[in-house]
Amino acid sequence: MSSEEKTILVARSSMPNFEEYIEEIREIWDSHWLTNMGVKHKELEKELMKYMDVDNVNLFTNGHLALESAIAALDLKGEVITTPFTFASTTHAIVRNGLTPVFCDINPEDYTIDVNKIEELITDKTCAIVPVHVYGNICDFKEIDRIAKKYNLKVIYDAAHAFAIKINGESVSKLGDASMFSFHATKVFNTIEGGAVILKDKNLKQRLDYLKNFGITGPDTIEYIGGNAKMNEFQAAMGICNLKHLDEEIQKRKVVAEEYNRRLKGIEGIKLSNRRINSTENYAYYPVFFDGFKLTRDEVFEKLKEHNIIARKYFYPLINSHECYKSKFDCGSTPIAEKIADGVITLPLYAGLSLEDANRICDIILED
Ligand SMILES: *Cc1c(COP(=O)(O)O)cnc(C)c1O
Repeated sequence: MSSEEKTILVARSSMPNFEEYIEEIREIWDSHWLTNMGVKHKELEKELMKYMDVDNVNLFTNGHLALESAIAALDLKGEVITTPFTFASTTHAIVRNGLTPVFCDINPEDYTIDVNKIEELITDKTCAIVPVHVYGNICDFKEIDRIAKKYNLKVIYDAAHAFAIKINGESVSKLGDASMFSFHATKVFNTIEGGAVILKDKNLKQRLDYLKNFGITGPDTIEYIGGNAKMNEFQAAMGICNLKHLDEEIQKRKVVAEEYNRRLKGIEGIKLSNRRINSTENYAYYPVFFDGFKLTRDEVFEKLKEHNIIARKYFYPLINSHECYKSKFDCGSTPIAEKIADGVITLPLYAGLSLEDANRICDIILED
């Protein structure tokens, strides 16, 4: 039986229809301009500025290099407070900038940084906070803002999960000194691979532009030690197409998420994440935390796998327990993050996942 069941993966990339994309890339054949901030790149930046109602958007070839470059643009030194309950990219971006990550625990309701534990980690070396809007749950930005002002710290949000989310009608990209979004294939909005940075200080945009193109500032001048992180024209074209359908795709995800809610809410031993900050939702992920359920997280994962349903232990293991960090930093103690990482799974969620499949997934989890 199980081998006959079709495979359902945790995510499936949103794509425009084929003809729509072909039409969008036709110009590229006419111009022979493939990358280096071409027409499509400029157009997508403009569309995104409109979509988020911001005065600057900086596109990157992926979210990771966007975050790395945003941190570099702010010219930081010392320690950065962040959380271990995230994708490795967040920590790597800090460390690859020569900075030292200091891990703060998360709160058990929405899994974002526990703002009550930030101040005790601040030293005279602390220069910034890099919080993560995990699963699109928005961090307690008011408290983070207060702390940052009090200690003169920069705030760079890893907003990879939070594209399209609004708070009181305003885009989340307006929070902090900078926000990074990922447009990876598995994210709510994709440009195949891609990412963007939105800066509070528009004057830094120029520096960020240089940093993503080898630090080249003129025909014969290189003023920064930049890398290469430019979004190419095919990526931008994909973004232009996908952005047109984004709100529709989010609505389709919502229908699936609501079906999961209907089946899983109130079941003993199952905890769904509780957003604490009032915002719109993008239904990027559907995390389920098992605590005292009749099956452990790993048993649920395996049981789904037997039916060709591939959920994801996202995020497990914790970043500070990875081989590359264990011996390098004093990783501190983050017991809540540990507990969540040991019990959490994200269920398949994408536009077009049928309610029938969503129900089959719940049946498998809940059956005796
Ligand atoms: C996806 C992701 C990134 C990295 O983005 P890429 O576009 O894949 O490079 C960074 N942080 C978090 C939390 C992510 O989920």
